[in-house]
Amino acid sequence: MLDLHRLTKSFGKGDSAVTALHEVSFSIAEGEFFTLLGPSGCGKTTLLRLIAGFEPPSGGALVLDGRDIAHVPPNQRPVNTVFQNYALFPHMTVAENVGFALGAQGRPRAEIAATVERMLALVKLSHLAGRKSAALSGGQQQRVALARALAARPRILLLDEPLSALDMKLRKEMQVELKRLQQETGLTFIFVTHDQEEALTMSDRIAVMAGGRIQQIASPRDLYDQPANRFVAGFIGETNFLPAHCTAGRLTLPQAAAPLPVPHADGPVTVMIRPEHVALGQARPDALVLTAQVDRLVYFGTDTHVHLHLSDGSPLVARVQNALRGGQPCAAGQTIPVSLPGEALRLLPCDE
Ligand code: ATP
Repeated sequence: MLDLHRLTKSFGKGDSAVTALHEVSFSIAEGEFFTLLGPSGCGKTTLLRLIAGFEPPSGGALVLDGRDIAHVPPNQRPVNTVFQNYALFPHMTVAENVGFALGAQGRPRAEIAATVERMLALVKLSHLAGRKSAALSGGQQQRVALARALAARPRILLLDEPLSALDMKLRKEMQVELKRLQQETGLTFIFVTHDQEEALTMSDRIAVMAGGRIQQIASPRDLYDQPANRFVAGFIGETNFLPAHCTAGRLTLPQAAAPLPVPHADGPVTVMIRPEHVALGQARPDALVLTAQVDRLVYFGTDTHVHLHLSDGSPLVARVQNALRGGQPCAAGQTIPVSLPGEALRLLPCDE
């Protein structure tokens, strides 16, 4: 439905030029919940603004439904944006806000009224139709902004950090609500966030960005399980990195306890393992068993994070589920064996 082909955006000229996007290419299918995820300044908002038409690209193509729209003005694109600050008209009622764009398009009154009613029912705000939008809570304003954006029946809804102004509890509720809305309407969503948990829980696919470049595009599960590089591995969830070496198809870690066969060229590599896959004690026979010293334990309710270090000083964190009637899994200062199951190890290029 939407194809980005080597889309590039630079601001300024000469020495002071900033390239915010470097040849970004990907395709989005109709009905997808697609998320742009990355740290501050990575180019997420710029990419969204290019899709919305608020900025022209410096190069590349932007094709929607087979038509290059890179230079089509924003109001002629079948795309609508929900902004972080909602941008509602405070003196208008909820219903007037939702129907505003339709009124400006000169649609018949009865049609506007019917659409407004449908949209407010969708976002569960029918009971507040007559209230001035300045007199709404943050979460309610967010719903009005959504209803207003949906009322224009865009082909794609762009959402720029729409939940970041909400407190944690409301934010979690709105995440569920947004996902429901997207599924009920079958609309294509392009969602911008820097919150990895939010991206993981809501998206069909996520594009991880850094420095104006796409690092990886994959489903939440694949990003977490098979990160393409160290940046993605570290940005999505907690993780351990260990220095390792491939020699003649074998992997050696700091203590070289039990080299595992690996299909990788000889040379240094980084081994990644998620904390929940590090087991305390000697586990299954296929696991790599290392000796580690316990530095400290951090209790998290459902689990305990055990911070350890290996003999070469490499830090390692194990996440251990708390048993109903268990004490602590180990104590600070102890030296214990830890098991790294072969299937949980991921090899990443060393230079990243
Ligand atoms: P955040 O999460 O903080 O909003 P972001 O990932 O959305 O960040 P962008 O706002 O897209 O990042 O910015 C990407 C880069 O482009 C940054 O280095 C930023 O300073 C630069 N940039 C964005 N807009 C302009 C502009 N109008 N003029 C000059 N530089 C800009």
